[in-house]
Amino acid sequence: MWSPRTDAAAPLVDPFQRAITYLRISVTDRCDLRCVYCMSEEMQFLPKRDLLTLEELERLCGVFIARGVRKLRITGGEPLMRRDIMHLFRGLSRHLDAGTLDELTLTTNGTQLGRFAGELAALGVRRVNVSLDTLDPQKFRAITRRGDLQVVLDGIAAARAAGIRVKINAVALKGVNEDEIAGMVAWAHGLGMDMTLIEVMPLGEVEGDRTDQFLPLSVARARLESRYTLTPLPDRTGGPARYVRVEETGGRLGFITPLTHNFCESCNRVRLTCTGKLYMCLGQEDAADLRAALRASPDDALVTQAVVEAISRKPKGHDFVIERQRPAAVPRHMSVTGG
Ligand code: SAM
Ligand code: SF4
Repeated sequence: MWSPRTDAAAPLVDPFQRAITYLRISVTDRCDLRCVYCMSEEMQFLPKRDLLTLEELERLCGVFIARGVRKLRITGGEPLMRRDIMHLFRGLSRHLDAGTLDELTLTTNGTQLGRFAGELAALGVRRVNVSLDTLDPQKFRAITRRGDLQVVLDGIAAARAAGIRVKINAVALKGVNEDEIAGMVAWAHGLGMDMTLIEVMPLGEVEGDRTDQFLPLSVARARLESRYTLTPLPDRTGGPARYVRVEETGGRLGFITPLTHNFCESCNRVRLTCTGKLYMCLGQEDAADLRAALRASPDDALVTQAVVEAISRKPKGHDFVIERQRPAAVPRHMSVTGG
């Protein structure tokens, strides 16, 4: 029978022989925007006292890095809205300097990049994912319920000027941005930015019915193929994206289709919430409370043991379905688990 290795510094390998090398960390559930597919208008945010401190987050990341995690992605909520977030980036950046971490990156809505891009670049952040679903200012305001598109475009420009590579993530939304996708690909690729399209996932309750938002990427892709030549690329990141090269633009385009394709067999990642819960799968409810172990002892042995035990429960795969009138398949919002 399989049992996890608990010897010091053994890499994290799950029961399906997948090495866990990638940790996503949600540093806050709060956000300055309220995207319609992500949050409800009146979101109830967690009380601040429930959050891990930045020092605790840094310590936990250190435990994962000691066990072979090579890539960290900071997310949220909006990660750059967490107070003093640069303190965490500074601490984590030391692992880049030491060669124990290959990549420190973040997913952001871009509103604060104008403020932070220079410092992020100086701390070794080479790439960021910026979520942007439209280039139309009115639509942007409607999708985000409050955002100013120009602020995000300025943030993207600041990141690029600082030497950070930007990838654009766009959620494909039926009747909202579907007519814009080809144009956004041309825009992103024209600026040398990769782009990824994401299918709406049933995470967390939002107003309205998600089947109304759901645009299968098979449909978006077929439409793109009437305008562009898409050549599949072998690039795999261990994640859900599949990539093509758009021959006319020379750029890379990804498709994240968790609902219509299963990508679990190569999954190399786990997700930590801002309260210290470790989710072994984005689409399953099982989680391990690392906060208790972290706070129980200043020594890392207990929390390391909790991490190893959690990884031994990583499930083989998820079971998302979007069906009309069904509650969200997973009740927690993406902003809690981190996208
Ligand atoms: N606030 C940051 C941002 O928007 O990039 C980081 C967190 S956000 C939860 C991460 C990603 O999740 C974004 O690209 C967002 O579009 C995506 N997302 C949020 N809710 C989603 C849902 N229900 N289905 C698919 N993608 C979703
Ligand atoms: Fe905020 Fe990102 Fe969710 Fe939009 S997708 S509401 S920017 S956390």
